[in-house]
Amino acid sequence: MFPSRFEYSAPDSLEEALAVLGQRADETKVLAGGQSLIPLLKLRFAAPATLIDINRVPGLDAVEESDGHLRIGTLARHNQIASDALIGQRYPTIAAAAPQIADPLVRNLGTLGGSLAHADPAGDWGSVMLALNAEVVARGPSGERVIPIDDFLVDIFTTSLNEDEIVTEVRVPKPEASFGGTYLKLERKVGDFATVGVAVHLELDGETIRRAGLGLTAVGSRNLKPANAENALQGSDCSDDLFAEAGRLAAEATEPVSDVRGPAAYKRAVVETFVKRGLAEARDQARSR
Ligand SMILES: Cc1cc2nc3c(=O)[nH]c(=O)nc-3n(C[C@H](O)[C@H](O)[C@H](O)COP(=O)(O)OP(=O)(O)OC[C@H]3O[C@@H](n4cnc5c(N)ncnc54)[C@H](O)[C@@H]3O)c2cc1C
Repeated sequence: MFPSRFEYSAPDSLEEALAVLGQRADETKVLAGGQSLIPLLKLRFAAPATLIDINRVPGLDAVEESDGHLRIGTLARHNQIASDALIGQRYPTIAAAAPQIADPLVRNLGTLGGSLAHADPAGDWGSVMLALNAEVVARGPSGERVIPIDDFLVDIFTTSLNEDEIVTEVRVPKPEASFGGTYLKLERKVGDFATVGVAVHLELDGETIRRAGLGLTAVGSRNLKPANAENALQGSDCSDDLFAEAGRLAAEATEPVSDVRGPAAYKRAVVETFVKRGLAEARDQARSR
């Protein structure tokens, strides 16, 4: 199907984009990589009066470390993130997830900000950013707002972003001490959305866990942060028994549904195994840093 008619605006600056958005925010959609929005338009699940293409706005795809954070511009493509040297060296959870998202065509166009704003519970970035305690930066008519990712993700395809706001950046705290992390994804075939995904981040002080972050994909109505498992890990000494317990606690926090990708009980079992396995992998990385 063809999309419904819409006005197309491709501003050269964020200020201009915000001005166009402010005119009729409830009938306008921001276009980033288009990998989720364009299918929705073609299926007529979305029929905005105006599309604001932000791809010409300069500076929205930068990746840099400053002020204690890794700052990733909203327009950073999945592939750009997968091949970024800084991310490869210092942000193993992000580096592990990026090449597992979709297929090369989607990775060339799809953006980090678009993925988070889309808030698909089967999206991979939400879990990664939950494990890393990231913040989403948004600009609106009254200035900049910094939203912790756990508050940004509200429910299936729902965020706390206001209609007149544009995501500009995602901020990830710089890891301290010895750190490790990974993203484990079970998919039916290469390029598919996750049957289950688990993001893990660990910071160690000797053998003591200084910070533990977890994020779970496709096992609830949004990406989940299993706080009970994180709390059990925090401040404890690493051990296989502890990691097994964290896996059990994380699985308890899930609410998967049975569907074509598998029964709920199977998905819960995969979460338990992946959390345990991911923590062991992150610990081994941290020990070697
Ligand atoms: C075949 C296929 C397979 C896929 N597989 C996976 C997968 O395995 N894992 C995964 O995580 N994702 C997957 N995706 C989704 C993909 O990652 C998309 O890139 C992503 O969900 C949306 O990013 P986008 O930049 O394309 O956003 P768009 O499609 O342009 O926009 C998506 C939504 O976000 C809003 N938006 C975009 N940018 C902003 C902004 N800066 N501020 C405010 N709102 C904004 C739009 O208005 C729209 O509502 C897949 C997609 C396809 C087509």
